[in-house]
Amino acid sequence: RTLLALLTAALAAHAGALTSQAAAEAQARAILPRLTLDDKIGQVSMAHVFRFTEGGRSAPIRADADATFRALQPGTLLNGGGDAPQPNTPRGWADFLARLDALGRANNPQGLPAVFGTDAVHGVNNVPAATLYPHNLGLGAAFDPALTREVALATAQDLRALNMGWTFAPVADVGRDPRWGRYYETFGESPWLVADQVEASVDGLQSGGVAATLKHFAGYGLPSLGMDRANAEISARAMHEVVLPPFRAGIRAGALSVMANSGSVNGVPVHASRTLLTDVLRGELGFGGLLVSDWNDIERLITTYRTHTDLVRAAAASVNAGIDVYMVPNSVEAYQNALREAVQTGLVSEARLDEATLRVLTFKARLGLLDAPLAGSGVLNDHRDLARRAAAATLTLLENPAGTLPIRKGRVLVTGPAMDSAAIQLGGWSVNWQGVGKGNVPDVPKVATLAPALKAAAPAGVTVSALPETKRPQLLTAAKGVDVIVVAVGEAPGAESQANNPALSLPDGQITLLRDLLATGKPVVAVLMAGRPLLLPSDIQSRLAGLVMAYLPGTQGGAALADALYGRAGFPGRLPFTWPDSLTQVGLWSDRPAEGAGETPLPLYPLGYGLDYTTSVARDLTVTPAPDGVTAQATLTNTGEQAGTVTVLLRAGLPASGALQAVSRPVGVLRATLKPGESRAVQITVPHERLSSWVGDAYGPGTWQLLPGQYTLSAGDGKATLSLP
Ligand code: BGC
Repeated sequence: RTLLALLTAALAAHAGALTSQAAAEAQARAILPRLTLDDKIGQVSMAHVFRFTEGGRSAPIRADADATFRALQPGTLLNGGGDAPQPNTPRGWADFLARLDALGRANNPQGLPAVFGTDAVHGVNNVPAATLYPHNLGLGAAFDPALTREVALATAQDLRALNMGWTFAPVADVGRDPRWGRYYETFGESPWLVADQVEASVDGLQSGGVAATLKHFAGYGLPSLGMDRANAEISARAMHEVVLPPFRAGIRAGALSVMANSGSVNGVPVHASRTLLTDVLRGELGFGGLLVSDWNDIERLITTYRTHTDLVRAAAASVNAGIDVYMVPNSVEAYQNALREAVQTGLVSEARLDEATLRVLTFKARLGLLDAPLAGSGVLNDHRDLARRAAAATLTLLENPAGTLPIRKGRVLVTGPAMDSAAIQLGGWSVNWQGVGKGNVPDVPKVATLAPALKAAAPAGVTVSALPETKRPQLLTAAKGVDVIVVAVGEAPGAESQANNPALSLPDGQITLLRDLLATGKPVVAVLMAGRPLLLPSDIQSRLAGLVMAYLPGTQGGAALADALYGRAGFPGRLPFTWPDSLTQVGLWSDRPAEGAGETPLPLYPLGYGLDYTTSVARDLTVTPAPDGVTAQATLTNTGEQAGTVTVLLRAGLPASGALQAVSRPVGVLRATLKPGESRAVQITVPHERLSSWVGDAYGPGTWQLLPGQYTLSAGDGKATLSLP
């Protein structure tokens, strides 16, 4: 049987497919008894690759790398957000990781390799030559899980080519507060719609032979005041109805790893929460894979949260809570000593350490690493077409009051800080953790930006000139002689707390730029490249001739935008979030319950909003019971004169549960690409869990229940009811 398992594993590894859980576990179990206490402590630690490099652009491996491997025996490695010297070519990366892999095996008493993980959150974003896709928020706007799967699969192909078998993606946090610096890493605000995207992403990555990581478990997306890593107050009801659905979906899709939330929930640091990391994650959600900590977060129990007094106790609390692998301790040695002491003094049982070690070994076995190193080609694929299609699918038209778009003739002036900026267009987690141009990584990826794309793609009868906003007198003079101004504005790139935007504002100067351009009296079309809804002053908002939300569209964003602005493509994107009209509306989610405060105010743009060059309706909704859910069908019709993608949210109003409930909650999406005048019946089955409620009193325990009673489903103009027993 062992021979058979080994053979299956070898074959799977060869094909780039993951080894089955059963075969991998058998392999891991055969190794575990041979490991000493120190071997196991090594397996559950993660070291940064810098420990093994000299730095410099070719990242030469240090002469003492053998000794470092022998001393630490790290079971896992990472490169983090790339804020440091690292190989700058694909071949360089593949060779570098092959050498590290060989060093790890050669210096491990059992010949065990160290598995390498990276943040490939929108393509292989640490590698300048790689294709970068729209950040998740944009993919959320495409409402097309099949596209998300394709992007994830293409990312996996590139990762494998570079000998990278593990990515810290996808983010499964629900984006509820746009002020939060990681909002753009989420697929949007609606738990079940995010769940569909997470499932697709996991499936795409792992079909491509790369282990996915659901992050950040759990509640990381709800930091108070939108401040990254601030405490999140989350009721049991919100935890179940809002936070957990995407994780549940990702686990069901087979995600091999989960990363813990670096923040705290209800005053308890998640890295020390046994309730969340074991009872909920393992018990309720049935996760059987590897749980990795976030960056240095065991030590932060002492330094940041002050819930623990020393590393031995912090390590014990965290490992006992459920953390298997500790990501990049400040000092790997200090952590290993602390964990050893915790085991020797009985604070952590050997059984618990065995369990964590077994998960690490099983994880490696599933990647085929216990049989052979990855054998990446070092050659990236050309995924530009996919990146362009993906960007095109995200674009969301918010205003076009006088039909200024599409631009089919006349003189166009294009300007603005985002018209030709790889940094703004790609956003954070691009080459550098904080984005292009930050830190000491000089490379700028090849990016199709808006100004050159508008020039290159101009149809007959359209002339395009571009001027930077810094040449203001020249710009305003030129503006007088054109028919339309396209101004690309956007946020400076950033990540985590550095990207918090407490005022939801555009950077200084861009408001003035918009006002200066509007003052010319010419039609101004604003293209916004941003990882969240931003608040434009009402004098600007009300006078724009066009407003396009481009999110952070990735390498081919400019080309996709030019297609849409010229009307060669439409605007299929729909907002994956509620766009507030002021800061006081932050929190006005589309599933906010009816409550005692009176009528809920209307946001600037609701979830699912977006215009197109064509119009559409959804009619004749019917709902019928299905084995594990309900099947909804509606007829979508393109009522306009252009082809277009019709996307309609399916919402459900639930029977009374004893608690405040959303008037209706989004449970799925009906979607079709239709020719002018074309109609199509579109069907989806909504699983019962999406119609379930958390039933329980304000402070007491609760249960997840499918309540008997009447369910009201709606989509566009269609409405239908169904009673469940
Ligand atoms: C982030 C994680 C990321 C990790 C490794 C942390 O700061 O919170 O999302 O995976 O760094 O780069």
